[in-house]
Amino acid sequence: MTNVNPFKQPGQWYRGNTHSHSTESDGRLPIGDRFAAYREAGYDFLVLTDHRKVNDVSAHSHDDFLAISGSEVHPANPHGGSMYHIVAINIHERINCAELHPNAVIANIKAQGGEAVLCHPYWSGHTITDYLPLNGYFAIEVYNDTCMGIGKGFAESAWDDVLDRLGPVFGIAADDAHGTEHDCFHGWIMVKSPELTIDGIMNGLRTGAFYSTLGPEIVDLELVETGDKKKVTVKCSPAQSIVFKGQASRGRRIVAPQGESLTEAEYVVPSATKYVRVEITDESGKKAWSNPFFF
Ligand SMILES: [Zn+2]
Ligand SMILES: [Zn+2]
Repeated sequence: MTNVNPFKQPGQWYRGNTHSHSTESDGRLPIGDRFAAYREAGYDFLVLTDHRKVNDVSAHSHDDFLAISGSEVHPANPHGGSMYHIVAINIHERINCAELHPNAVIANIKAQGGEAVLCHPYWSGHTITDYLPLNGYFAIEVYNDTCMGIGKGFAESAWDDVLDRLGPVFGIAADDAHGTEHDCFHGWIMVKSPELTIDGIMNGLRTGAFYSTLGPEIVDLELVETGDKKKVTVKCSPAQSIVFKGQASRGRRIVAPQGESLTEAEYVVPSATKYVRVEITDESGKKAWSNPFFF
């Protein structure tokens, strides 16, 4: 997996949501209204991911807004758990997921030029047992807004399990919008790309040139290497805490003094660290997540 630092890449930041539904499946808005709502809310792109369906959404793109076709597919789980929910970003042909092994579903997504995301692991009751057999997905939803309806939107430990036991995978915050308010405009990604095109956004996703947020802004992120010493530094909007996380017991949490806030922090990476990712939490509890640096 190629992994870049988005803060060192050329281009602009584009705000997008990778998971949404319309009346074509169990969403409450028709396709056109779903795209219009996100465009009006200031988003640069939206992926439509109706269950087991793929729609031509090209008519909903504008100069300043990209409509991306996708799907949420549900292969059965041969490993004992509930069925998978896999978001396919940028596919154009329906996948007959009922008859395919989950790895064949992911291979089909990639063969179409798309990318696969493992959705809402906490809500699905999935554990590492369900993810160990899967290959080829590029990201896991670290946050899913509609799953906050039962308080199971955050999946940081599932992401860390995969990072610790399996290796590089990116984290995505998404709305999984079905309604019009409670699960809209709360979790998104910021993608760095030279241009607002399908190729530009897909390349940004594949290389990890993005971060996830519920509001806080990551302003800069840097990996400084001097000889065999490594240091990660971050700058961000005012935060109550900044956490650096590595595998298992590795990491560090920095908390702002009472009545103050943090806008930067640094972490000297101990030897034998496999990865470091950064989490920002603001005063209201809203979070942002960088993708990991993999060593
Ligand atoms: Zn789902
Ligand atoms: Zn969904």
